[in-house]
Amino acid sequence: MKVISTRGGSEVSVSEAISVGLAPDGGLYTPPSLAAHSGPWGHDLRTRVSTLLRPFFAGEVLEPSLEDIVQEAFTFDAPTKWLSEDTGLLELFHGPTAAFKDFGARFLAACLARLTKVDRVTTVLVATSGDTGAAVASAFHRRPGFRVVILYPDGRVSPRQAHQLGAFGDNVSAFRVDGTFDDCQRMVKAAFGDRALSTKHALVSANSISLGRLLPQMAYYAQASLSALEQGRGSVSFVVPTGNLGNAFACLLAKECGLPIDRVVLATNANRVLADFLATGHYEPKASLATLANAMDVGAPSNVERLRHRFPEVAKVVEADWVDDETIRSTITRTLEQHGEIICPHTACGVEVLRRVRTRGAKGTWIVAATAHPAKFDSIVEPLIGRPVPVPPALAELLSRPSRAEPLAATVAALSVALT
Ligand SMILES: *Cc1c(COP(=O)(O)O)cnc(C)c1O
Repeated sequence: MKVISTRGGSEVSVSEAISVGLAPDGGLYTPPSLAAHSGPWGHDLRTRVSTLLRPFFAGEVLEPSLEDIVQEAFTFDAPTKWLSEDTGLLELFHGPTAAFKDFGARFLAACLARLTKVDRVTTVLVATSGDTGAAVASAFHRRPGFRVVILYPDGRVSPRQAHQLGAFGDNVSAFRVDGTFDDCQRMVKAAFGDRALSTKHALVSANSISLGRLLPQMAYYAQASLSALEQGRGSVSFVVPTGNLGNAFACLLAKECGLPIDRVVLATNANRVLADFLATGHYEPKASLATLANAMDVGAPSNVERLRHRFPEVAKVVEADWVDDETIRSTITRTLEQHGEIICPHTACGVEVLRRVRTRGAKGTWIVAATAHPAKFDSIVEPLIGRPVPVPPALAELLSRPSRAEPLAATVAALSVALT
């Protein structure tokens, strides 16, 4: 399939878009309008992913490897846990780093392993506000021909996120930057923009604008909506906790592909630019605010450009609301009391937004994307609920390893030295 840049540059193949990440004109690669697929979709996650992604890879260099890529990347499930007859939590945290980003990062890694030159080491450079870095590190850990360099803002990720980032070792280096996430992102952008530096280290990006991360995220919306339909629940609506809008964008694409999806509602934290944009039609990016749902602390969501390009009448395809820290806290407590379920602060934004949507009269079956396991945010969740959160085995294994991160000044010059 040919994809185009949001800034109008020439068309490229999906495989090319996955290799380069950002388009040369600075835009984001976006698939054309998709024809609805009528199935059959198959019965398990992996078959459904392959069915869904096949049209995107038709005629591509990666087409013959698609089945292998899916088998390699999708090694864990995305079950829906029903809290009541008509309300589900789509558990996206059963991967190695306990957040939904494992799906996209592992698919991207499996694609890049087949697309990059084998005669030299490729450097995957990522800035992370917490979860991306770990997912990307895990996906490329010990993969021949790759090394991973992670930049994260020192003191601004949860203690367990920080431990995770430094726990891989081998071909993964973690740097704790003396600055904010925006500083980390600026350094990474500058490194990619520096031709000499970028060529010298064969830099590749793995951030959330990459199509290689976006496309596979459609898979779990397919899985959840088709399973709900099979169970006689009808078509479902989703609430998606949102930061850069990568996860929710995949949900919109899945809907367009013909999956039984009704409404799509974005839930953000106090970084409310999306809710304001959808309410007023004016998009005004802001500096990001620190909140309890730190993986969504985004003031200028990078996929807005893709959303507006692809769906010019944005307000017709998606809705949004935002949740403050106080309400995140009360929602975590309330969800445990009402449903016996411990949720992370990001998922709490989704659960609260669903409560409001229902108060306004919404009917039908709704599913909230549970984007991370609460054990990653134990320092926030445990004091609220007054008991320990059981740690899933993959996360426990990572946390049992020693962790190491080097300090780094928030300058490109410092990064350039660190890369060598
Ligand atoms: C990254 C992340 C989000 C936000 O996802 P986007 O694709 O950036 O909208 C939400 N929750 C968690 C736990 C995350 O790690």
